[in-house]
Amino acid sequence: MSAIDSLPPLREVIETHQLLARKSLGQNFLLDLNLTAKIARQAGDLSECDVLEIGPGPGGLTRGLLAEGARRVLAVEKDSRCIPALAEISDAYPGRLQVIEGDALEVNPLTHLTPPIRIAANLPYNVGTELLVRWLTPKAWPPFWQSLTLMFQREVAERIVAVPGSKAYGRLALLAQWRADARIVLSLPPEAFSPPPKVHSAVVHLTALDSPRYPADAGTLNKVVAAAFNQRRKMLRASLKSVSPDIEDHLTAVGIPPTERAEQIGLEAFCALARSLKPLD
Ligand code: SAM
Repeated sequence: MSAIDSLPPLREVIETHQLLARKSLGQNFLLDLNLTAKIARQAGDLSECDVLEIGPGPGGLTRGLLAEGARRVLAVEKDSRCIPALAEISDAYPGRLQVIEGDALEVNPLTHLTPPIRIAANLPYNVGTELLVRWLTPKAWPPFWQSLTLMFQREVAERIVAVPGSKAYGRLALLAQWRADARIVLSLPPEAFSPPPKVHSAVVHLTALDSPRYPADAGTLNKVVAAAFNQRRKMLRASLKSVSPDIEDHLTAVGIPPTERAEQIGLEAFCALARSLKPLD
C-alpha cells in the first residue's frame, strides 16, 4: 500500500478537523485525489526538487505532490485549523513535508528550501496574483524557482497567456511572457471544488527562462507597459507622453507607428522601445 492510501479520504479529514470552509481565506478545497495528482503531474518531474506549496488547506494537492515523488514539500498555510491535518500527512511521509503556519505574503520560505525549487499552489485568487507578480519581478534573474504551477480564476489565467490583439492582453501577459514560458495546462469547472466558487478556474504552468526573452531594463519596460495599458484605448503617442516628451521619435525609431494602441504591440517591440528610452550598457 502506498503512503497516500494509508491516509483518510479528504472529506473525512475535513470532518475530523472541522475545516468548515472560510470565505475570508478564499477556501475552495479540492477533494478528488486523482485531480490533485493530475495537477501535481503538471508541475513536472518533482523527484529531484523541493516544492514550495502555498495554501495547502486540508492537503489534497500536498498529497498529490508527495505521491508524485517530490523530494521535499514546504507548505505555507495561514489557517491554523489546517495544521493538525497537515501533520498527519507529514507522519505518512517522514522527513518530506514541512509545514509553516503563516501568511505567504509575509513569510520568507527561502531559508528552508534547497534548489532546484518548483512552486505549486491553489490559492485565493487575489493572493495568487500578488505572489505571481512578486515571483516574476525579483531583483535578479534567473529567480529562485524553476517553475510555477498555479490555479487561477480562468479569466486571470487567460490574461497571463494572452497574445497581442486579444482583449485579455495587457501588463500581466507581458510581465509573465518576458521572463517565462506560460501556458494553461488544465481547466476546471466550479464543481471540482468544495464549496464550488462562482467562476471557472484554470491551472497555469510557467517555466522560468534563463534570461529575459528580449533584453530591456526591467524598470523602464515596466514603466512603459504600465503607461501604455493604463490608457489602452489611446494612441501610444498620447498614452506614453508622460514617459518621455520625445516619445514619438522613440516609437518611430523602433518601428512602432505612434498612432498604434498598446494592445497591438508585441513583447519584442515593447522591449525595443524600453531600450531606446534607456539603452543597456
Ligand atoms: N490547496 C488546498 C486545496 O487545493 O484544496 C486549499 C485551496 S484554498 C483555494 C486556499 C488555501 O490558501 C486555504 O487553505 C487558505 O487557508 C490558504 N490561504 C489563504 N490566504 C493565504 C495566505 N495569505 N497565506 C497562506 N495561505 C493562505
